[in-house]
Amino acid sequence: MWIAEEQGIDVRTIYGIRILKRSIDARQRQIYVNLKVRVYINEQPADDNYVRTDYPDVEGRPQVVVVGAGPGGLFAALRLIELGLRPIVLERGKNVHDRKKDLANITKTQKVDAESNYCFGEGGAGAYSDGKLYTRSKKRGNTDKILNVFCQHGASTAILADAHPHIGTDRLPKVIEAMRNTIINSGGEVHFQTKMTQLILEGNKVVGCVADKEYKGPVILATGHSARDVYRYLSEAKIEIESKGIAIGVRLEHPAQLIDQIQYHSKQGRGKYLPAAEYAMVTQVDGRGVYSFCMCPGGFVIPAATDKEQIVVNGMSPASRGTQWSNSGMVVEIRPEDIEGDSVLKVMHYQEELERMCWQQGNMRQTAPAQRMADFVNGKLSYDLPKSSYAPGLISSPLHFWLPKMISKRLQEGFKTFGRNAHGFLTNEAVMIAVETRTSSPVRILRDRDTLQHVRIQGLFPCGEGAGYAGGIVSAGVDGERCAEMCAAYLKK
Ligand SMILES: Cc1cc2nc3c(=O)[nH]c(=O)nc-3n(C[C@H](O)[C@H](O)[C@H](O)COP(=O)(O)OP(=O)(O)OC[C@H]3O[C@@H](n4cnc5c(N)ncnc54)[C@H](O)[C@@H]3O)c2cc1C
Repeated sequence: MWIAEEQGIDVRTIYGIRILKRSIDARQRQIYVNLKVRVYINEQPADDNYVRTDYPDVEGRPQVVVVGAGPGGLFAALRLIELGLRPIVLERGKNVHDRKKDLANITKTQKVDAESNYCFGEGGAGAYSDGKLYTRSKKRGNTDKILNVFCQHGASTAILADAHPHIGTDRLPKVIEAMRNTIINSGGEVHFQTKMTQLILEGNKVVGCVADKEYKGPVILATGHSARDVYRYLSEAKIEIESKGIAIGVRLEHPAQLIDQIQYHSKQGRGKYLPAAEYAMVTQVDGRGVYSFCMCPGGFVIPAATDKEQIVVNGMSPASRGTQWSNSGMVVEIRPEDIEGDSVLKVMHYQEELERMCWQQGNMRQTAPAQRMADFVNGKLSYDLPKSSYAPGLISSPLHFWLPKMISKRLQEGFKTFGRNAHGFLTNEAVMIAVETRTSSPVRILRDRDTLQHVRIQGLFPCGEGAGYAGGIVSAGVDGERCAEMCAAYLKK
């Protein structure tokens, strides 16, 4: 009505309105929802709200082995099909449906299945997550394409409009299943519970890999940041890798209502119409970044370890972002030079040590050591802990005492700064849950900038987060597409 009046047209000539961009500006007391809309005057809106990609039949075409069915591997496989190549996807974990039972079992049995968990299995680390789909690396490729492919496979087209799109852990599995079906229906293959153990090398050229049997073809290696056996194998096989900085800290969980009140500047919180509020915080302490990471408004803290005798925490949210908690990683930048030794795996070893220490502090179960936020800053043990979304349970622990000083001291200072910037944020209503270590890859697999092949080994395309070239679902997807394109160019030669 308002649009018709402003444009001076009859409201009946408007056949439809589509939201193209939507963002929330909550910087001031008055909150604005900014919309950019397309109005269809005397024309019908198109049926598809997104750009479709055609996937041809690739039966009998040259094959490429894609190791890992996370976003990097899945988008590589789909792009290979577009380019007329036949992907053979090998995934160590289970399909996204069966994987769910193993996730539930972590809480029931307090044990982690080393091949099927929050990081391993169809959909990779991104399957049971918040499904946030924004990335800062717009330069690196076509992020819109990734979002459109998600829509084609069942994600809501709202992700094309939202400034901070997210799918939600309850909706992601169906989207991932649909992507797998596209691969199979186009003539590709997807093998679950099939772990690559070794590459097949002819001189300086990869011609396939070994899993349950030999698979032939160039290899796109998209095994994620938690495949430590892959890093060990590459190191032993003298395939060039280098250690890379990561960030380590804790998950910080507040009541969602409190974050809403702070971010929306109102005692009423988010009210009826606004979504659970997000935040992003960053500061520098003693020459290292301290920042919030992978925020999950209205979400859960989850046990994300990939092996026995580890505790690792992370976060996820349903599409509604409707739980009573909001969490985010609160992490400190760690550079390779901060850790003693000269092994290329030293950052990974440091992660491993800390995860094991955390498991010991957690009574050798998945019950995670935790401390109230203000107690941590004041160096006091918490006598009790608030109710938390972390299903395996929490145990009160003096994190300020046993976390490495280069992490705990910086977190304490960082929290004081965040508390000054956002009144009410530094509070004993918030709980810190240890330990968040899997923020990115501790290793970079060296590859050529232009061909994306390994610097020495031809036919090997290190891909996605595990190779050190992506951080997040969308950037891993973009990198997967680029690796597929470079692999097609390699095969053409
Ligand atoms: C709980 C959680 C929540 C997250 N939330 C978000 C979010 O909201 N938004 C966001 O952008 N990012 C999020 N992330 C990060 C995001 O999931 C990763 O950046 C992304 O999944 C990386 O994609 P990838 O394909 O490179 O690797 P991965 O997703 O890690 O996939 C690697 C795959 O390779 C398989 N694999 C490993 N070794 C082998 C082998 N030897 N043989 C065969 N298969 C193998 C693994 O099982 C896995 O499925 C989250 C991560 C976690 C753990």
